[in-house]
Amino acid sequence: MHELSLTTELLKLLEHDAQQKGIKRIRKVKLVIGAMTSVLPSALEFSFYALKEGPLFEGAQLEIEERPGRGHCQDCLAEVVLDNWCIMCPSCGSRRVSIDQGRELYIDFYEGE
Ligand SMILES: [Zn+2]
Repeated sequence: MHELSLTTELLKLLEHDAQQKGIKRIRKVKLVIGAMTSVLPSALEFSFYALKEGPLFEGAQLEIEERPGRGHCQDCLAEVVLDNWCIMCPSCGSRRVSIDQGRELYIDFYEGE
């Protein structure tokens, strides 16, 4: 499961950052996950609660904002709503679609003290 290793990385990153900022306890983590990243938010959420450990993450809540995939057709310039990897322009059938949104995968912010 791809989300497990991703969560491990995420926790490491948070731990490192919290250490540098002198944060002893993380209360909330907000993630942005684009629809085109092939990351399942529910699986990531599950991994987060399964893998977090220690006083730093005690009581930490994960909030996930899902960004829908959006792009435009390079041939007819129509706006295209993208559904995970099924990339085709609904207006002209072209597969030359540029992805404008949906590849995001980052920590929006986290709170702690
Ligand atoms: Zn098109």
